[in-house]
Amino acid sequence: MKLHGWTVFLRNATIGTEHPDVTVRDCFGDRGSLTDLCPAHPDVRDYAVALARAVARLGVDSVVAESLHFRPLKPQRSFVPLGPMDAYLFALCFCDYCMRRATDLGVNAEVAREECARIVGGVFDGDPPAQGEVTRAALTAYAGPDVVAYARARSETVTTLVSEVASAVAGEGSKLVFIDSTGAVKGYTDGLPTPGLAAHDAWQLGVDLVALGDLVPAFGVLAYARDAARVADDVGAYLRSVGKDREVRAVLRPGYPDSDSTDRLVAKARGAKAAGALAVDFYAYGLVPHPVLDRIPAALSL
Ligand SMILES: [Zn+2]
Repeated sequence: MKLHGWTVFLRNATIGTEHPDVTVRDCFGDRGSLTDLCPAHPDVRDYAVALARAVARLGVDSVVAESLHFRPLKPQRSFVPLGPMDAYLFALCFCDYCMRRATDLGVNAEVAREECARIVGGVFDGDPPAQGEVTRAALTAYAGPDVVAYARARSETVTTLVSEVASAVAGEGSKLVFIDSTGAVKGYTDGLPTPGLAAHDAWQLGVDLVALGDLVPAFGVLAYARDAARVADDVGAYLRSVGKDREVRAVLRPGYPDSDSTDRLVAKARGAKAAGALAVDFYAYGLVPHPVLDRIPAALSL
């Protein structure tokens, strides 16, 4: 059997609580997400490379990277209704390192920060929240070109970090499997993902799949959906982004809320493979009841 070392990189409450200076800083200058380490911070980048190397040295066949990118806002408690675009703007990091990187790429980072603070601050003060999903066009209309340019500049931060991590893992004789959270953002709660395919919206977390396709040997798609056709569409879009010769794995949930029967799970595994997935993984062993685990052999014997 192959042994894969699933590793959570930049979501770390222990480090963030002890060292708030390495966590993300919002447009108001607050560090309100101590769980989220900023991928632009040099210490965080050193940590990510060291962590990847440490896991690779355990002798695993691959290091599976979760949260090796900017993270979405997931408020545990919020008594102000935020639209998807408001939440997105509120989650953008404006720490010194992020702002410097954007400035180096020709973005007016301070204008972007002021715009975010004006819009999100307005919603906090009673403006109606934004309607509709985050798209480049909608974001441009809502927050202006400087904010969109700032958001897009984040991919350089992530691409260079993932490149360093992939090299470190390869240097230890293992390989990196990159997983971005977009599929989970879309479908985690109910298995009914928002319309845009994960590969098309990954840029929102600073993930440039086309660029990463040249740097990373393998990708995992979080296909958290009830519908087999949707799973196939997500896998297909991923392959078109990262390159047909890359290894793409589909991560399925065998039970609630995505799969209500063995047949449905089998249909999704079949759809993923037909769309070009090299393998299917299942999330998450320790949380799934035994009768649901019993569905997996059928999905593997296709
Ligand atoms: Zn930052």
